[in-house]
Amino acid sequence: MRQYELVDRVKAYNPHTDEALLNRAYVYAMRAHGSQKRASGAPYISHPLEVAAILTELKLDDATIVAALLHDTIEDTETTREEIDRLFGHDIGQLVDGLTKIQKLDLVSKKAAQAENLRKLLLAIADDVRVLLIKLADRLHNMRTLHFVPEGKRARISEETLEIYAPLAGRMGMQDLREELESLAFQHLMPDAYAAIRHRLDELGPKSGPLIERIENELTQKLAASGIKAQVKGRLKRAYSIWKKMERKSVSFEQLSDLFGFRVIVDSVADCYAALGIVHTTWSSVPGRFKDYISTPKQNDYHSLHTTVVGPGRQRVELQIRTREMDRLAEYGIAAHALYKDEATGQPSDGKVRESNAYAWLRRTVETLAEGENAEEFLEHTKLELFHDQVFCFTPKGRLIALPRNATPIDFAYAVHTDVGDTAVGAKVNGALVPLVSTLRNGDEVEIVRAEGQTPPSAWEAIVVTGKARAAIRRATRAAVRNQYSGLGQQIVERAFERIEKPYSEERLKIALPRLARTSIEDVFAAVGRGEMYSGDVVKAVYPDYREEQAAGAGANLAEGGWFGMKQGQGLVFKVPGAGDGAQENQSAIPIRGIGGDLPVQFAPNGGAVPGDRIVGILTPGTGITIYPIQSPALTAFDDQPERWLDVRWDIDEAHPQRFPAQLHVTVINEPGVLAQVATVIGESDGNIDAISITGKTADFREMIIDIEVWDLRHLSAIISQLKAKPVIHAVTRVNG
Ligand code: MN
Repeated sequence: MRQYELVDRVKAYNPHTDEALLNRAYVYAMRAHGSQKRASGAPYISHPLEVAAILTELKLDDATIVAALLHDTIEDTETTREEIDRLFGHDIGQLVDGLTKIQKLDLVSKKAAQAENLRKLLLAIADDVRVLLIKLADRLHNMRTLHFVPEGKRARISEETLEIYAPLAGRMGMQDLREELESLAFQHLMPDAYAAIRHRLDELGPKSGPLIERIENELTQKLAASGIKAQVKGRLKRAYSIWKKMERKSVSFEQLSDLFGFRVIVDSVADCYAALGIVHTTWSSVPGRFKDYISTPKQNDYHSLHTTVVGPGRQRVELQIRTREMDRLAEYGIAAHALYKDEATGQPSDGKVRESNAYAWLRRTVETLAEGENAEEFLEHTKLELFHDQVFCFTPKGRLIALPRNATPIDFAYAVHTDVGDTAVGAKVNGALVPLVSTLRNGDEVEIVRAEGQTPPSAWEAIVVTGKARAAIRRATRAAVRNQYSGLGQQIVERAFERIEKPYSEERLKIALPRLARTSIEDVFAAVGRGEMYSGDVVKAVYPDYREEQAAGAGANLAEGGWFGMKQGQGLVFKVPGAGDGAQENQSAIPIRGIGGDLPVQFAPNGGAVPGDRIVGILTPGTGITIYPIQSPALTAFDDQPERWLDVRWDIDEAHPQRFPAQLHVTVINEPGVLAQVATVIGESDGNIDAISITGKTADFREMIIDIEVWDLRHLSAIISQLKAKPVIHAVTRVNG
C-alpha cells in the first residue's frame, strides 16, 4: 500500500475527501515514526498505512482514516495529544487519544486488572465507536503479520484476539472481520488442529470446486425460473468454524455433512421468503435448521433466513438468504451506520451510531458498568455477553457449566452427569419451573428435577445441541423404543379381549404362545405394537373356537371392534370425545401424550393433529400409531383395513407442555413485506414455524403452506384469527391432509 493508493481508495467512495489532510497526516506519521521498524523489518509507517487501508474497505470518514494513520504516534513517538489537536483538530485528537488509552490494555491476564482494563476499553469505544473500528483494523493487521513476531508473544495476542476482539467484532455485526480474526488466532493458538483441518480441506479442494459451481448454477436457475433474480455464492467453510463444530458436536471431520455454505442475495424481503419457498419445495429441508432472522433479527442487527437442505448430489447445503442491504449490514455491521450518509454535503458522520442495536448494547453495557461497584462481576457480565456463541450457567452449588448457545436444561443436565440427564423430568431456572425444552441464558442457575426410573423421550434428541446429550439420549431411547412397542401391543391386546367380553390373563396368553409361534408375551405385545401381528390373531390363538359372528349381537365385532361406529361419527359403539370436550373421556381408548411419551406415536404427515382435535389412531407397521384428526380425508385410505384403526384419546401432561404439528394454507396479497408479516404474526402469537413453502402464485396472490407447531387447538385457532385480522392476508385455512 502506498499513500497515493490510499487516497485513491478514499476518493472512490468519498468524492469530498480532504486529500491534503490525508497527505498531511501521512507525512506527519512517517516523520514521527522515523526509523522505527516493524518486527518484519519493514518501516513502521507501513503498519498505520495498512490499518487505514483496511478501514477504507468499511468506507469510513476522513477523521477515521487520519486517526488510523496517526494511531500509534502518541504511544510510540514524541507526539503529544496537544500537538495532534493543534494540527488535526479536536475530533481526530480524541480518536487518537482513545486508541492510545486502550493500546496497552492487557485483556487476558488472570489479574484483577483485567476487569478494569476491559472497562477502559468499553468506555473508550462507547464514547466514539470509530475508536473500536480503528482498534479492530489495527488488530487485524497485527494478526496478519503475527508470524514475524517472536513466538513467545504470539499466544497472548492470539488469545486476546479470540477472547475479546473477535467476539466484539461479531457483537458489532462485522462477520467477515470476525471470521478473519478467528481464523488467524486459531492458526497460532492451535497450529496442529489448524494444519489438520486445512489439510482435509485442501484434499476436498479439487472436488469441491465443481460441486459448488453446480449447486450455484442449479440454485440460480431454479430461482430464475420462478422469476427471482438472485446472486448465489458458495464457499467451503472456514477452518475455525469447522473446528468449532467438530468440538461442539463431538464429531469427526468425516461426519461433518455441511462443509458448504451458500449465500443467496435477492432484491427484496418478499423475494427472500419466496426463494426460501422454492428451495424448500425443490430439495428436502433438514428439520430444525430453519431460522428466521428477518422477522426476529439477532441482537447485532443481523438479518437473514437460514436453512439447510439436502441439495444436489445428496450434499447437505447450508443457505443464508438475504437482501443486498442485509448482506451489506452483515459485512459492515456497526460500521455501516458510521458511513457517509450525506454524499451531497460530505458531512462526516459523528461516529455516534444511535440507530443500531449493536450500539445500543454497547451503551447498555457501559451503563451497567457505571452503576456496578464490583469490577469482577462486571467482567463476568461483559465477557459472558461477548461470548454470544456460548452460555454459562451454574448448578445450585455454583459449579460453572459452559454450553453452546441455544442449549436447553436437558443439555445442562447431561453436562452435569449422564444419570442426571437420563432421569430429568423438569428444571428450575433461577428458582422458577421452566419447560425442559426452553433455552438457557447466560448466568442462569439451573436445578434439574429428577425422577428415578425415567427414560429420556427420543424427541429430546432433536432438541438438544450438545453431542454428549444426543449420544446419551440415543442410547437410552433405543431400549425405551422396544418397551414402547410392547406397551402399545399390550394395550391393543387387552382392549381386544374387553371388546369381545372374554376373560384375558397373561396365563391364558402364555398357553397360546406356540400357536402364535412366539416365545414370550413381550414378543407378542411387541409384534402387535409394531403392526406385524393383529390383535384378532391373538384372540383367536387364546380362544380357538371364538367366531366373529358371536360378538355381532354385542354391538362389536372382532375385526372392526367398535371403530366402525366411531368412524361414522354415529357414536353407537363408542363416542370419542377430543380432549377439548372435557368430561366424558373414553377411558378405554389408548392415551396419547405426544412425541416421546410411553407409546410410539407420530402425527398425520400432512396436517398434523393437536390436542382438542377429535382423533383416531392408525397402526402403521414399523412406526407405531399415526394420529389423524377425525375430519382428515387421508383416513379414507384405511377404510378397508379396519384392523389398523385404534381408539385413542388425548392425555396431555400439563407439567410438560409439548408442541404439536399443524399446517396452514395461507393466501396473501402479493406485495412486499407480506411474508415477513405472516411470520411476525405467527411468532408473536407464540407459534413455531417449521417450514414455509410457496405452492402457487398469481400476479395478485401468493399461496403457501406453513408448517407450524402449537400447544393446542385453541392456540391454533387464535393464530388463525390473528392472521385473518391482517388486511394483506386474504385467506387462512387449516390443512387436513
Ligand atoms: Mn498499531
